[in-house]
Amino acid sequence: MNIGLFGGTFDPIHKGHVALARTARDQFNLGRVEFVPSNIPPHKPQQPMASYFHRYAMVALATMSEKTFLPSLLEAPDITSATSGSRPQDRKKSPNYSIDTVLRFKKTLKKADRLFFLIGIDAFKDIAKWYEPEGIFRECEFIVGSRPGYSLADVANALPEKLRPKAAATKPFAKQPADGDLALTGATLHLLGDVNEKASATAIRQAIKTKRSFTKFLDPVVAEYIRKNGLYKGL
Ligand code: ATP
Repeated sequence: MNIGLFGGTFDPIHKGHVALARTARDQFNLGRVEFVPSNIPPHKPQQPMASYFHRYAMVALATMSEKTFLPSLLEAPDITSATSGSRPQDRKKSPNYSIDTVLRFKKTLKKADRLFFLIGIDAFKDIAKWYEPEGIFRECEFIVGSRPGYSLADVANALPEKLRPKAAATKPFAKQPADGDLALTGATLHLLGDVNEKASATAIRQAIKTKRSFTKFLDPVVAEYIRKNGLYKGL
């Protein structure tokens, strides 16, 4: 089976995330897409966030109507070591690195399964700065949700140095839109050129904080959850 792994902060999950997962599923015949909220995202250390449990709950709500979409606890805080009767504590304080998550997830897969790592172009731009990025490319194929204005050269140039083609080789890519496939030594990328849902979690949080309408880019059940729990008002 083709399986997608889609990590993020999901603070909150919005229509842009779901659009990317839907397009990837439909184009690559994914039998399952696992949405993995990160307990401690390595790239957003200073940002105040809703708790892991709120973010996971919103992912569960936003994915419940799609049979192929599943919320995943792969990057959940480790509460197993809490003694019985005491309040469970978040004992896992280190960031969740994608390479660890991918390796852990792969142990649960069958030999015939094919794993795809789903990511948006804005996150992909920084992939070279991630922990052990070459390892992630080694372990799975990438599906990158692009946006208008990005070229194939932007994608190739964002690759970690060891995988990046020489500048001369990517020159012809500058005029090509970020669409189609890119097969390189050590990396296989599939580019989705038409994911164009202008949602952003930052903009949604900002709208809530400033008491503006915030529901346009959210599943109504997620909007209701945010309202009921008073999320993002005081950020
Ligand atoms: P924030 O605004 O807080 O930085 P975000 O909306 O970018 O958040 P994340 O949870 O950080 O959301 O993103 C998870 C993944 O979804 C990333 O790979 C990101 O590139 C992708 N993504 C985010 N917004 C969109 C969108 N509108 N369309 C397609 N992909 C998106």
